[in-house]
Amino acid sequence: MADNVCVPLLEVRPEGLYCPAGDFFIDPWQPVDRAVITHAHSDHACPGSKSYLTAAPGAALLRARTDPDAPIESVAYGERRTIGDAAVSLHPAGHILGSAQIRIEHAGEVWVVSGDYKLAPDPTCEPFEPLRCHTFITESTFGLPIFRWPRETDAVAAIHAWWRANIDAKKTSVLYAYPLGKAQRVLAALDLSIAPIWAHDSVERYSAAYREQGIAIPPQGPREGASLIVAPPGYEHRGRVSTALVSGWMRIRGTRRRRSLDRGFVLSDHADWPELLRAIDATNAETVWVTHGFRAPLVRWLQEHGRNAVMVEGHYEGGES
Ligand SMILES: [Zn+2]
Ligand SMILES: [Zn+2]
Repeated sequence: MADNVCVPLLEVRPEGLYCPAGDFFIDPWQPVDRAVITHAHSDHACPGSKSYLTAAPGAALLRARTDPDAPIESVAYGERRTIGDAAVSLHPAGHILGSAQIRIEHAGEVWVVSGDYKLAPDPTCEPFEPLRCHTFITESTFGLPIFRWPRETDAVAAIHAWWRANIDAKKTSVLYAYPLGKAQRVLAALDLSIAPIWAHDSVERYSAAYREQGIAIPPQGPREGASLIVAPPGYEHRGRVSTALVSGWMRIRGTRRRRSLDRGFVLSDHADWPELLRAIDATNAETVWVTHGFRAPLVRWLQEHGRNAVMVEGHYEGGES
């Protein structure tokens, strides 16, 4: 075979991204025989497949998201597996606990599927690992130049100030956060010396898996008398409350008003616009596939800057942020 023949390592099938050399799918949105999973968010981890491969720190989360008997095999970050004719390894994506980029090597070609990722530091998961590849498949949830995140310390300081003001006003602080990933990141950052907190059961369920991996997530605490509550959006609490959402979407004007929230704090588990560009640049990839989110603006920007970029269909709409 001539070496200038480029074999696509992945193709889009009705079930999801498929690797012909290894006969497996990455984050399929329908049950398949063999699924390699980037992370446990529901838009990436569909239940019902015959086998799953995921990064070890996220295995318990994936089990919680699929079913207790799901056939899940886990690998350490960086460990190489041979699947069919492909060499596969999983590398930290910095998104949530156990999140991974999938690196596939076959016939001298290297492709990397980012899954969801961020570059900003997060004490609840391993930091994003830059990987070189020929083709990079990137997410673009926040692929618009308006998305630029403040530092986590600034977001957390603003949450603390809001919380203290609510204590003075004799209100319970209800902090809405996506229950897997964002909630644990917020819990790990809160100053527990301010007042007692309580985490909703749907948050605690995942927090337990974090603690098993050695991540310092504070105990759930009693609900009675809690001054601050971390809960999924939509949770209703009786009494005098002040509500706030922690999300990258709070960067968009009007989000707070539309959702009838008292406050919003910008903290995301996804890359912002500068992080997306930095991550893509570091791959040195000739070709970039752009999946979910604001795909068109990112594809256009990459093309204008000399890269071969294409938009790829996906079913990634988990609502996590
Ligand atoms: Zn995700
Ligand atoms: Zn996603």
